[in-house]
Amino acid sequence: MKRIAFISEHASPFAILGGVDAGGQNVYVSELAKQLAAGGYLVDIFTRRESPDVPRCVQWEEGVRVIHVDAGPPEVVNKEKLLPYMAAFRNDMLAFIKSSGIRYDLMHANFFMSALVAMEIKAILNIPYVVTFHALGHIRKLHQGEQDQFPAERVHIEEQAMHTADAIIAECPQDQEDLLRYYHPAAEKIKIVPCGVNLDELYRIEKQAARERLSLPQDEIILLQLGRMVPRKGIDNVIRSLASLDCQRRHIRLLVVGGDANLAEQKGTELFRLRQVAIEAGVQAAVTFTGQRKRDELKYYYSAADLFITTPWYEPFGITPLEAMACGTPVIGADVGGIKYSVADGVTGRLVPPNDPDALAGAVDSLLANPQALTAMGAQAISRVKRLFTWNKVASQLDGIYSNIISRYKTATKELSEFRRAV
Ligand code: UDP
Repeated sequence: MKRIAFISEHASPFAILGGVDAGGQNVYVSELAKQLAAGGYLVDIFTRRESPDVPRCVQWEEGVRVIHVDAGPPEVVNKEKLLPYMAAFRNDMLAFIKSSGIRYDLMHANFFMSALVAMEIKAILNIPYVVTFHALGHIRKLHQGEQDQFPAERVHIEEQAMHTADAIIAECPQDQEDLLRYYHPAAEKIKIVPCGVNLDELYRIEKQAARERLSLPQDEIILLQLGRMVPRKGIDNVIRSLASLDCQRRHIRLLVVGGDANLAEQKGTELFRLRQVAIEAGVQAAVTFTGQRKRDELKYYYSAADLFITTPWYEPFGITPLEAMACGTPVIGADVGGIKYSVADGVTGRLVPPNDPDALAGAVDSLLANPQALTAMGAQAISRVKRLFTWNKVASQLDGIYSNIISRYKTATKELSEFRRAV
């Protein structure tokens, strides 16, 4: 049986999603680990201990364990501040490997800090590794400039990781382009493997029933925005677009799901800022902020909505459009990154420029004007997701990549020991 070590320094399967730092990467690591285990792998997920009370090692699912690594204070720390703790992370992970006597066949690092840990462990133990960056320092700097709080070393670490990794997972063609353009790794190392959706968790529920379940009115047009509450997600753009939609007369409501509702009154938080944006745009009566929702509730939100909207400035992949599509809800998404790959323009929704409330309002108007086309798009969305974006398919693509690398290493090790015996 093949043993894989997932490294995900800040994103644990146990986190509550939809806050500032917990979102797509947590889902990616959890779902892939489960799928790989179902396919016969043994997976250990190494993640930083964020509480003194959790056990060192938790048997989470059959074939999947979560190993809490001691690195820095045992509490939640913003991911921008974690780099100094990565040496401790590496040492504690090495200590676990040594004391457990496990020989991992491969590591899969997630995010640049985990890649740093993986490349150092590879140098010591000769275990190959694959990396998914989830986001790239260069791209973040381009969009966020001075507001980017990650240490300057990030880009250099990413460059080193591209050279030492055995494969680099690009999540979409745009990610591949960015990797090549800004980091120049060997092109053959890059493999495009998208994100996925769990169809047992996210599926269509009849709209009326979904709304009843959430106590939402049946006679409103519901637009849904769901995700982490950070400025780059462009939620302000969605709120501003309402100003030209005549929401009151047309009974249009925007539901904003995500973020810690307890912080909504706290200045400096994104939720607080978004409330101000709604007030300034004169649309506060048409916007409902629900706060974070658990995964087993999401299918009701996606199914209750007439349209799902997501207009980030940039997006390495973006799992939420897939989740909406799996529930049969057409998506209006920004024409960026992974969204322009997952949303088929005119087939499963519409693509619009980011940061352009008028273009977004125009797209909402034109889709709402044609309910028949909207229904067809919902059905097409489900088939597109089933065809291209299930975690099961994603895991089987990764299995192919892992297996190639593992057998290459086994052959090389065998040849080396034969050579040593011969000389
Ligand atoms: N999410 C959630 N509850 C919330 C808000 C978000 O479970 O209240 C999940 C959402 O369903 C998705 C993930 O967080 O699976 C966000 O992933 P995405 O790739 O869209 O964004 P990222 O976090 O990678 O920027």
